[in-house]
Amino acid sequence: MELPNGGVNVQPLRNFINGVFVPAVSGSLMDTTNPATGEVITQLPLSKAEDVALATQAACNALPGWKSTTLEERIEWLEKIADVLEEKSEDIARLETLDTGKPISLSRRVDAYRSVANFRFFAEHATELPNLQYEANGAVNHVHRSPVGCVGLITPWNLPLYLLSWKVAPALLMGNTIVAKPSEMTPLTANLLAETMAELGLPHGVFNLVHGLGPDVGQAIVEHPDIQAISFTGGTATGRIVAATAAPMFKKLSLELGGKNATVLLDDAPLDSIMDDLVRASFTNSGQVCLAGSRILVHNAIYDEFEQRFVEAVNALVVGDPQDEQTQMGAVISRDHQSKVESYITLGLEEGGRVIAGGTSAQVPFPNLPSQGAFIRPTVIAGLPISCRTATEEIFGPVVTLHRFNDEDEAVAMVNATDYGLAGSVWTASANRGHAFAQRMDSGIVWVNTWLNRDLRTPFGGVKQSGVGREGGLWSMNFFSELTNVCVQR
Ligand code: NAD
Repeated sequence: MELPNGGVNVQPLRNFINGVFVPAVSGSLMDTTNPATGEVITQLPLSKAEDVALATQAACNALPGWKSTTLEERIEWLEKIADVLEEKSEDIARLETLDTGKPISLSRRVDAYRSVANFRFFAEHATELPNLQYEANGAVNHVHRSPVGCVGLITPWNLPLYLLSWKVAPALLMGNTIVAKPSEMTPLTANLLAETMAELGLPHGVFNLVHGLGPDVGQAIVEHPDIQAISFTGGTATGRIVAATAAPMFKKLSLELGGKNATVLLDDAPLDSIMDDLVRASFTNSGQVCLAGSRILVHNAIYDEFEQRFVEAVNALVVGDPQDEQTQMGAVISRDHQSKVESYITLGLEEGGRVIAGGTSAQVPFPNLPSQGAFIRPTVIAGLPISCRTATEEIFGPVVTLHRFNDEDEAVAMVNATDYGLAGSVWTASANRGHAFAQRMDSGIVWVNTWLNRDLRTPFGGVKQSGVGREGGLWSMNFFSELTNVCVQR
């Protein structure tokens, strides 16, 4: 007989406030569901502003003690957290697959790996923080760095612990205390992180976790006057609400938002060697990656050959049970999200497109997968104008559109014809040509002949409506610290 939750034991979750696991003050709970089966995994607290107030009080109380620790002591904490998370890698992968419906191989390779790597990276790179001094006019300017204070961290469902740890590690390192809120759809690994903090005996109140809905818990974090900075990753529409609330309070704000990223194949793109990468850039995590290439722009000279080979490669992807090691694409995050993504496939047809691979689950059903599972085949739509809604709005699912161009100027105009500017990639036999093209793209990150090749020291973030501010290396450490200057006359 199949064990519930694939044999993973998941107890009802509680908030983690002041070093103790507690229910929401109201006692209310909500379900979290496995999107691959539609089954309830467990319950989490349906917290409100009163729970955020308790967590913030705990974080404020813990701040003086935590900020008085040395950088070396905090580096040691990060290393200890990384060690324990590494021991729990398989648990992280299993919980992430249960919560998100992503393939277990992906959860191991990306989610579990990066969650550990984020803590290790910031522990190692803290020692490279520059000690800045400037001399002029007979005086020495000493640049000092102090924590911002109590910070709010709000994260989405697509890479749950990967993105939470990307904020928690630099925030702790720079001496801040934390009130964190994971997505209500994927709370399991945030809970694992809280358990890890408790096992290690991190001082009470330094890391607090409040579960619940965005408009309740997220909004209460952003509104709380004692939270001095907000680091938010999520959709552009939510980012707009977060900014509208935080800006008049003059909070430090980092917004990592949505994207509609272009993958550009110049006329010399080496099709023989890049097809796997292009499929990966389009459909990793069912396309639910903010950096996914969801619009593929191809030079006319190679378009026909590309289209045929790409469709073949896409149709060969194994869509199935996320627990199966062979599965390459699992479920999308929920039935609601499935409906949203499928409505874009329908819209694509209405806007004049041709579905040349995949289609909605009604058009191409999955006879061997749970009927309540949120599965969609990898879908490719050709023949759409670049300015239509399907080609300009973020779908955040396994749907890509293909477009032709005649020359580089036209391609640049097509790339830049969206409100977003997060990421993109260029594929060409000439690295120099690719590099030159990349600099004409309105995009925070461009990869030339690669995709999702991440060096954690580099600035990460979007332009236009894809975000405000940068994360990564020194940029994260700067965000989570206040730089002040003392000028000493000699
Ligand atoms: P979302 O905006 O719906 O939710 C993100 C988080 O914000 C969740 O924890 C949610 O509960 C919370 N939230 C909702 N309303 C809130 C409010 N009023 N105040 C404060 N918090 C609130 O996003 P999602 O659907 O969870 O994630 C998908 C989106 O995230 C996509 O648009 C994707 O592109 C984006 N994303 C961006 C990056 C990046 O680095 N730029 C990375 C991953 C995902």
